[in-house]
Amino acid sequence: MGITSTVKNLWDPVEAGRCRDELELRVYTSRLLGREPALVLHGGGNTSLKLRVDDVLGESEDVLYVKGSGWDLATIETAGFSPVRMERLLALARLERLTDERMGLELRAALTDPTAPAPSVEAILHAAVPYRYVDHTHADAVVTLTNTPSGAARVREVYGDDVVVVPYAMPGFDLARLASRVFADEAGEATVGMILLNHGVFSFGDSAEQAYTRMIELVTRAEEYLQAHGAWEVEAAAPPAPAPPLETVAELRRAVSAAAGAPMVLRVSQAAAGRAFAARADVQTVSQQGPATPDHVLRTKRVPLVGRDVEAYAAAYERYFRTHAERTGRSLATLDPAPRVLLDHELGLCTVGRTARDAAIVEDVYLHTIEIILRATALERYQALPEADIFDVEYWDLEQAKLRRGGEPPPLAGEVALVTGAASGIGRACAEELLAEGAAVVALDRDPAVVSLFERDGFLGVRCDVTAEDDVSAAFLAAVSAFGGLDMLVLNAGIFPRSRAIDELGLDEWRATMQVNLDANLVLLREAAPLLRRAPRYGRVVVVGSKNVPAPGPGAAAYSASKAALTQLARVAALEWGPAGVRVNVVHPNAVYDTGIWTDEVLSERAERYGLTVEEYRRSNVLRDEVTSRDVARLVTALCGPAFAKTTGAQVPIDGGNERVI
Ligand code: ZN
Repeated sequence: MGITSTVKNLWDPVEAGRCRDELELRVYTSRLLGREPALVLHGGGNTSLKLRVDDVLGESEDVLYVKGSGWDLATIETAGFSPVRMERLLALARLERLTDERMGLELRAALTDPTAPAPSVEAILHAAVPYRYVDHTHADAVVTLTNTPSGAARVREVYGDDVVVVPYAMPGFDLARLASRVFADEAGEATVGMILLNHGVFSFGDSAEQAYTRMIELVTRAEEYLQAHGAWEVEAAAPPAPAPPLETVAELRRAVSAAAGAPMVLRVSQAAAGRAFAARADVQTVSQQGPATPDHVLRTKRVPLVGRDVEAYAAAYERYFRTHAERTGRSLATLDPAPRVLLDHELGLCTVGRTARDAAIVEDVYLHTIEIILRATALERYQALPEADIFDVEYWDLEQAKLRRGGEPPPLAGEVALVTGAASGIGRACAEELLAEGAAVVALDRDPAVVSLFERDGFLGVRCDVTAEDDVSAAFLAAVSAFGGLDMLVLNAGIFPRSRAIDELGLDEWRATMQVNLDANLVLLREAAPLLRRAPRYGRVVVVGSKNVPAPGPGAAAYSASKAALTQLARVAALEWGPAGVRVNVVHPNAVYDTGIWTDEVLSERAERYGLTVEEYRRSNVLRDEVTSRDVARLVTALCGPAFAKTTGAQVPIDGGNERVI
């Protein structure tokens, strides 16, 4: 973070000239707003355009195109704007009261296209502002100004009569009604914007460029005010982070998951600003005020946990919940007392989410919160909304309904898996399958291609030679920093040396095989043990053995012996770790031909040797069916799942049935 740059006007007449109509221009400037994190963060903010359009009967009507829920301004497309009938919106704005639940239904019912996304909850407010283009952000500089004791006076000082000022109201119908009245009473010819205290800013204009330019100008004036009052460049320096103690992080994640009632991802932020903030002597005071705008409430919850006492935090959170639950009709079933932000002297800033993506979003949001708090403190004092207002947003019907629509999380959501030898073949298939089941995956391989194997949150590729202890330690550190611990370990990396009879087998070759297939796995198991014991739902280990264990082949002495020894190691681990709930199981694949070593050439050579076609050779097992990497990956994932919750020390073949094994 450090010294944050000021917002810039990114309007480009050439790019704008490529827009074919007004809705495309609406998309264009919405994306410009979405590109600037000091204006819009992760789905925050919304924009609209009013158009007169002809319906199917040839009658024209006024329609508001407003951002649909689920769309992000940074990536929005024309399909992301929901068309809502203006007449209906303006009638709704005149009502004395309307529940937010009913408002949500009314907004959907007023769509001219029932397949469009649900309109933004701020749709009525957009309709009430009589300009074609309306832009709304939760700009950091503006919420910094308004989250101080004399925020309203400062807004007046900065903007004079160029804006109307709306006191805080709960987003949704209450805010729409209040803002439309304030606008009707106070706006004049010169009004270019509207400041919502403790919430954000609206700008408007007759063209996309005008509304956008006004937004940049309004925010720039707030930034300049902060600069002029010595409240811009805030301290963000921190000593370099020492490596966090892995067991401490894993223990913390377990406690957070226990409070949440589900496995959670915990992310140790690498940002210096987070460490510097957590190290402040007054962190307990400055961090306990509350979020800067309703937009941030669901991400960060009301306040962070300072220190590591999750139980005390959960107890305090439950008191906060009970204080407000009755007034708002919330049942205890909706209580989730786990923190989303943690500030610790030793660990710095840590963030928590049900998924790796959620934890990363919380980190982004809280780093902005830190900057806002520090600037407001430098200006005067950071003062967020009263607790009751924050509670109303945190347990808002509409947001809760959105969560319910999200459905059940995938089976391995919030859990972390580490897979070795993951750049190709069975390892890669395991990584893919575990990701698909919702786990965060740390993929290790000697091949540097592993780093960019999958482009998504929840995937971390680490180049690692599993026979180098330093590499392995670094990989565990990376895993714990990114996701907070380890729940599943898939030991897959192995080598299959060239076929060689015992008479000709040199000790070097023997040792090289043992080093990768056996010794490396001892180190991996040993290092993983304290993390697996702290897994929220108990650790699981799956070892990729080989058919060669029950049915060895001539010429594969080193390989067969290494896999047999590895299997025995796994059985001992099952015995030693069982009392701590950690399960260790082995799969024995055979004849998995869709991997790197089985080129077409090798396959046809082998098939020929047995007098078979390649197709027959692939299926030369009892079931006459091919075994793929994906099949093995599905078994590995199943062994980590509930069906095998009572199984440990088992060896499961996956070979299409082998006569020598059966
Ligand atoms: Zn807003």
